Amino acid sequence: MKQMMNHELLEVKNLKKYYPVTTGLLSQHIGDIKAVDGVSLSIREGEILGLVGESGCGKSTLGKTILRLEEPTSGEILYKGIDITRLDKKELRELRREIQIIFQDPDASLDPRMTVGDSICEPLVIHNTGDEKERTERVAELMEQVGLEAGQTSHYPHEFSGGQKQRIGIARALAVNPRLIIADEPVSALDVSVQAQILNLMMDIQEEFGLAYLFIAHDLSVIKHMAHRMAVMYLGKIVELANKKEIFDNPLHPYTEALLSAVPSLKPKGKDRILLRGDVPSPLNPPPGCHFHPRCHRVLPICRQKEPQLVEISPEHFIACHLHNTDNL
Ligand code: ADP
Repeated sequence: MKQMMNHELLEVKNLKKYYPVTTGLLSQHIGDIKAVDGVSLSIREGEILGLVGESGCGKSTLGKTILRLEEPTSGEILYKGIDITRLDKKELRELRREIQIIFQDPDASLDPRMTVGDSICEPLVIHNTGDEKERTERVAELMEQVGLEAGQTSHYPHEFSGGQKQRIGIARALAVNPRLIIADEPVSALDVSVQAQILNLMMDIQEEFGLAYLFIAHDLSVIKHMAHRMAVMYLGKIVELANKKEIFDNPLHPYTEALLSAVPSLKPKGKDRILLRGDVPSPLNPPPGCHFHPRCHRVLPICRQKEPQLVEISPEHFIACHLHNTDNL
């Protein structure tokens, strides 16, 4: 896997995305759904950062906010050192050349009335890239890169299988030569038998073009296969962030421990299975103190009162947990 770890491509600082909740005729503001609540992380050139957490933890919202498909409530998103939260429409369009997204449901990004060739060509048209001949050549090249036949350009999406449609989604994302791809559960809607093919394609492409991915998945084996580093998200916050091997060998946050122990093939040796009780609470009314405390098998009295901060407890290993931050005890 190609990895160039020297500089940050993307830095997210204290990013928040709140959805206001209103009631009544006067739309009185009664609270906020804190979908992303103070996330800081970075992605380096050519790096795959895996983002895991149960459904409803804020992973998709974080991905969409980084792309400004959702407007951030506050915080900074630095892409190559430039704060993209301040870009105007024109500048944002330019940025979308560099950062692309691949969605879970390939149908959502494909217009059923457009041929596949036109769909893949669309980003080139939007970004005014090349003349007609160059675009036709580029579409054929992209089809080949993602394992489709160039002769299929005149076909419509319904003529393709789920895996092939995701290949088309990948070709569309690659069309304008991005540097960073936000992959939001790109294989979870696909049959298990084709998931590995798409993951391998994404890894080949990452290596060939030295791309960076923010790879969102709730399936830890997918992250284990793909990522260099991984971030674990719980109720709008990053609770653990480290090198993938370090987390899989030595998960420190009780939430990470529980997630790993739920997958028999990933359960660290010698550790018991930890049952994660209940569901993720609502981000409208998160539990006080550490948001995870009502479900935590290692809860301490302080966890009910004080929110733990994300701290670096060993080089490049960050964790937000009172168990591992003795300053707070
Ligand atoms: P994940 O990707 O981890 O499953 P999401 O980012 O989809 O989580 O959602 C995080 C939380 O934000 C959920 O509680 C969800 O209901 C809420 N949410 C997401 N989008 C919106 C929206 N447009 N309006 C209100 N709440 C939203």
